[in-house]
Amino acid sequence: MATLIDGKRISQEIKDELKEKVSALKEQGKEIGMAVIQVGNDPASTVYVGNKKKACAYIGIRSESYELPEETTEEELIELIEKLNQDDRIHGILVQLPVPKHINEDKVIKAISPNKDVDGFHPQSVGALSIGQKGFVSCTPAGIIQLLKRSNIEIEGKECVVIGRSNIVGKPMALLLLRENGTVTVTHSKTKNLKEVCKRADILVVAIGKPKMIDASYVKEGAVVIDVGIHRNENNKLCGDVDFESVEPIASAITPVPGGVGPMTIAMLMNNCVEAALM
Ligand code: NAD
Repeated sequence: MATLIDGKRISQEIKDELKEKVSALKEQGKEIGMAVIQVGNDPASTVYVGNKKKACAYIGIRSESYELPEETTEEELIELIEKLNQDDRIHGILVQLPVPKHINEDKVIKAISPNKDVDGFHPQSVGALSIGQKGFVSCTPAGIIQLLKRSNIEIEGKECVVIGRSNIVGKPMALLLLRENGTVTVTHSKTKNLKEVCKRADILVVAIGKPKMIDASYVKEGAVVIDVGIHRNENNKLCGDVDFESVEPIASAITPVPGGVGPMTIAMLMNNCVEAALM
């Protein structure tokens, strides 16, 4: 039976540490500010933005909310970002993605100052990560490293297999595991013999976006399994990319869905914002 990696507890631990840091900074007269921008009113985005603002309030970060109408033009959005880039009271700028189709997401990401890029999506942040320089790191993979470290799971020298090569999860995950001296293999939809490759893994990170695709036949006995996927099944219950019931008996440690990777993303966003204020 696997140990459950408790993302709820670990994310709470991180938020409490940040809360203390923020309150110490306040005593020195420094207040941290984050701008949260949403364009349009996609219901899922509204929930994410609400959770981010709640986390800011808990930690003591002042959040400034910009709820822009669906018809906002690319120029208007970029103009707002440029204004916030210049605003000393704002340390982190977050544009909730996806933006409406008439706005070019890449241009929006590039418009955010790399010093305020708390999502870690700016090409400069991604470049810094790939050459081992300081910069903001995408929150979900950064959260996974924290889950492993705070569960005393060693990465150095381990066979790490990442399934998925997206810019926000798979690729930065691979770079972070490499930075921690793991031996890293990245797999994707065109990988041949996926099962065989996965079975080599001491640490298997699954970010595919396919409900319950990874069952015990992909997992080596005693492996650590990290499930990034989030889906609602036919009974409206949350599940991941990993078939938990099948994998849990043979893994040594596993993240549940919900309560595993999910809560870490916001905790690391808050961490990035505090770091931005300390730069
Ligand atoms: P994505 O769709 O951008 O990327 C999926 C990746 O999986 C691709 O690189 C693709 O090559 C690979 N893939 C697809 N089918 C495959 C197959 N049959 N075999 C091997 N590889 C395959 O997705 P993403 O943004 O990386 O997200 C992945 C999952 O993680 C989704 O379920 C998403 O909802 C979830 N997610 C969760 C969080 C969180 O905070 N917990 C954050 C981001 C994403």
